[in-house]
Amino acid sequence: MLARLSSWSRTLSVSSRTALSLAVGFTIVIAATALVAFGQEHATAIDESLARLDQRNAKVVEELADRFDRIGKTQADAIALFRAERAALSPGEARRLFDQLYLRAPDGSRRGTHAMFEGGPTAIGLTRGMTGFIPARIERDDEAVRDIVAATLAVRRLGEGSRFELESLYYFTPQNGIVIFAPDRSDRLEFYRRTAPGDFSFQDREFATISTMAANPARKMMCTGLQSLISLKDQEVWTTGCMTPVDRDNRHVGTFGTSMPLDQIAPAGRFAGSIDENVILISREGRLIYHPDYTLQHSSHTGTYLDITTSDTPELAALWQLVSRHGKTGFSGKVDALGAFVSLRSVPGAGWYALAVKPQGMILAEALRPIPRIAAMAVIALTVCLLIVTLVLRRLVARPLRRLSRDAERITRELAAESMLELPDGERTGSEVGQLVSRFETLASAIRQSHSQLEARVAERTRALNEANEKLRVLSELDPLTGVANRRKIMAELEGRIERMGSASALAVLILDIDSFKSINDRHGHVAGDDTLRALAARVQSLLRPGDALGRMGGEEFMIVLDRARPVVAEAIAERVRAAIARQPFQVHGNVTLTVTASLGVAGWRPGDTAKALYARADAALYQAKAAGRNCAISAQDQTGNRSAA
Ligand code: GH3
Ligand code: MG
Ligand code: MG
Repeated sequence: MLARLSSWSRTLSVSSRTALSLAVGFTIVIAATALVAFGQEHATAIDESLARLDQRNAKVVEELADRFDRIGKTQADAIALFRAERAALSPGEARRLFDQLYLRAPDGSRRGTHAMFEGGPTAIGLTRGMTGFIPARIERDDEAVRDIVAATLAVRRLGEGSRFELESLYYFTPQNGIVIFAPDRSDRLEFYRRTAPGDFSFQDREFATISTMAANPARKMMCTGLQSLISLKDQEVWTTGCMTPVDRDNRHVGTFGTSMPLDQIAPAGRFAGSIDENVILISREGRLIYHPDYTLQHSSHTGTYLDITTSDTPELAALWQLVSRHGKTGFSGKVDALGAFVSLRSVPGAGWYALAVKPQGMILAEALRPIPRIAAMAVIALTVCLLIVTLVLRRLVARPLRRLSRDAERITRELAAESMLELPDGERTGSEVGQLVSRFETLASAIRQSHSQLEARVAERTRALNEANEKLRVLSELDPLTGVANRRKIMAELEGRIERMGSASALAVLILDIDSFKSINDRHGHVAGDDTLRALAARVQSLLRPGDALGRMGGEEFMIVLDRARPVVAEAIAERVRAAIARQPFQVHGNVTLTVTASLGVAGWRPGDTAKALYARADAALYQAKAAGRNCAISAQDQTGNRSAA
């Protein structure tokens, strides 16, 4: 697979291959960069998300604290008003108003009048959305009656005043008396107005117990966990209540309270700033106040989740563990048990904790968000880069390479045609470089072949030249007419032999001149003369020993160099030559038979003789032979003329 890939890549052009390599390299770099960017983004996303989460939680806490503060203030105002009204009421006035406001029911209890709730004139003026449930035992106590009337006045005034902010405002006593302003309750306060039994007691309920001296020694406002409203039987209305106790003479006489239905604690939109962040409220005692998944208004299941201190639900158990460990100090960070980042803050005034929760996956998603953007930018940058690289390479490398390749091919073709070479039909696939290499190899092969052809031709020509030179040399040394050595050659031969002479050796020179040759020419013509020269040379040559040499000195004069010839031998040979010429006539041009004679001068070599000196002595001897009458040989040794003649 890899091998096939690499062989495929070899067929690509240089620019494509470079672009491909760059693409692979860039992709790795970009992937690494994206990974690093992701790591940084992730860390930043976590920090930012956590900061945002904590900020958001702080806002929730602030808002809740603000609300609790206002509820607390309203209740404090109610208490002040209650005390003032009570002080202003005479026992008689209180009793009169009590009787007019609360009518006795058949079971002995008293309930608020019809007009008090429906809206109409009552003993204390126009009133609405109000009622009261007063057990029989209260009306026997003047102080309690005064309390009820003063509370009725305070609740009416402040309840109406904060109507749009508070769902309800009520006052209740340890004797189970209750005065309530709640104009918007769906049951129109039917429970207190009519259905509650005469002996109805709520002292065991949390809203009552948290106001006792034992439960609330600080005597400040305290809030309950989620409770289902006792007055509504047909449906669950999950509500929390905040209560401020009223004491007189260190005795708990009553409590002002306000209920907050679940949907007012967390009305739609308040905590829903982001779909992936949740706000959870938990009371100090480990009661769920608000959780988007578990505290559902009107659901009977809600009750089963409220106590998270012993919850089987892992998430709720983890929440409780977190709250019980970090509730006092607050917390901001990752909670592995929840798989989320969490901000935990306590809500002042309520005894609650607010938690803002963001699942880890959401933060991861936030960190991943810029990755496609980075990737898209990288791909664009990469594409542009590759395009530029490809274009530049094509211009700077691929094209010149192709040109070079074509030139190499052209030169190869020309060379092949010139030298008639057989060239391999090289493959022309592959990249520019591959083609260039292949073409240069072919060119190199062509050059090698052509070179060896040239060498062969040069060798052939050299041989021919040497042959011609040899012929020339031979020709330059021969006499063209007679075929014997010419003057230069015979003189050189003589010089050579003298040079090589040992003192013990002997050497002699004969100079032969044809007698009265001029008259032969004159009588028989030059052609006959030439024939005579040729025939005579041939005859003399045939008489000589192998080591002897014959040369024509010019005209009808010849030189004979006799090897190892002492004077006696030389004279004998000279005589023999002379006799051989004279004895037998020569057959020449024009069918003429000529009797020819020649004169010879003989000179033997003496130590110290040069070729010229030896020749001169022989020539002098010849001159003497001529003078002596011709057809004789005279030796130079005896100046007196050792004449040998026929
Ligand atoms: P002597 O006996 O004194 O030597 O008399 P000679 O006639 O031989 O000598 P001479 O020097 O007077 O004449 C030589 C002649 O040889 C003259 C010239 O025409 C002739 N000769 C020289 N070279 C050639 C040649 O190559 N061919 C022919 N046919 N004649 C030649
Ligand atoms: Mg002569
Ligand atoms: Mg002559």
